[in-house]
Amino acid sequence: MGGRKTAGCVFCEIIAHRLPAWWVEEGTGAVAFLTIQPLAEGHTLVIPRGHAPTLEDVRPDERSEMWSLVHRISERMRHVGLAEGVNLLVASGRAAEQGVFHLHVHVIPRRPGDMVGFNAWIDSKVRSVPEARQRELSERLRSDAPRRPGPSP
Ligand SMILES: [Zn+2]
Repeated sequence: MGGRKTAGCVFCEIIAHRLPAWWVEEGTGAVAFLTIQPLAEGHTLVIPRGHAPTLEDVRPDERSEMWSLVHRISERMRHVGLAEGVNLLVASGRAAEQGVFHLHVHVIPRRPGDMVGFNAWIDSKVRSVPEARQRELSERLRSDAPRRPGPSP
């Protein structure tokens, strides 16, 4: 992974203005434009300017700009009356069903009664994990943390 290869990347083509897009903002480290497959009106993609296939590949200086832009777009959706709330969605890696391998954060504007229905989808997927397994999983994840949090229940 990694690398700065841009050949054939549709999002790099948009950044370079070689493909059209419904632009929302062009920042130095990240840009935002409307998706052509919206789940709701105003559904926006925020992407790092440098080609980065997955979350782990985003350059450190562009990581913070990307998330700052996500915050700004979310606030703006509310200010211009497009949303009363937002959902954020990121697919990073083939196993996560990522489609375009230039990382993108979906900012999905939400309004009451818009029928997007994330909770219904989540409720249909929730699975049961035994307590002992939860403990083991939390220990495995904590063991790699730079600062170890306190003990879990
Ligand atoms: Zn790209």
